[in-house]
Amino acid sequence: MKGRENTVTGKTVNFRGINDYSLRQLFKGIIRIYGEQHWWPAESPLQVIEGAILTQNTSWKNVERALINLKGLSSRDLLKMSPGDLQSLIRPAGFFKNKEKSLRSLLSYFDGTLESGSIPLNLRDELLELRGVGKETADSIALYAFNSLTFPVDSYTIRFLNRFFGANLTMNDYEHLRSLFMRCFQKSELMEIHGLIDEHSKRICRKVPDCSSCQLRTDCMYFNG
Ligand code: SF4
Repeated sequence: MKGRENTVTGKTVNFRGINDYSLRQLFKGIIRIYGEQHWWPAESPLQVIEGAILTQNTSWKNVERALINLKGLSSRDLLKMSPGDLQSLIRPAGFFKNKEKSLRSLLSYFDGTLESGSIPLNLRDELLELRGVGKETADSIALYAFNSLTFPVDSYTIRFLNRFFGANLTMNDYEHLRSLFMRCFQKSELMEIHGLIDEHSKRICRKVPDCSSCQLRTDCMYFNG
């Protein structure tokens, strides 16, 4: 929208017809509905990492059951365990053999640095080199465990933006969307907006959207289309 400037960079940004002003308006609307989420239910960087791996291809309910089994164990405790023992703890989250390998690879990478709170240089690039770590997982860990400036784009984000803005985005647009969000929002806002989009997508803008209950419908292209 001409004449309106990005509050972070001072420049107007736009991707596939979604601009910083409309994104910020959407954020204001969605936070009015749900309030601040203080999202990512984790008490420590270790729990963020565990959750980021365990949540792949399963529901958060299953992840919670596995996280309860891991509670109280340090990264060193987990690394000392045999593959079989660790697998039995994370079994409720499914795909436990693969997830055990991915979790172990991540914990080995962070060995010694997790508890110290220091952030590895080139964190995102290095995470992306690890087994079982795709962009969404790397960005979730970087943002929520290490407070790094980044944004995880998940399938909920794509679906919601496509409906709300009448866009035609796919996961191939990951990097463009990530940088659009990073240029539009502060770090603390990025943590919130990811949580808010996921919350809205689980409660209302589901696979079959419940538009009649949606307080965003006045401005939604899908509803008004
Ligand atoms: S109006 Fe419908 S499609 Fe649009 S955001 Fe709400 S639930 Fe989703």
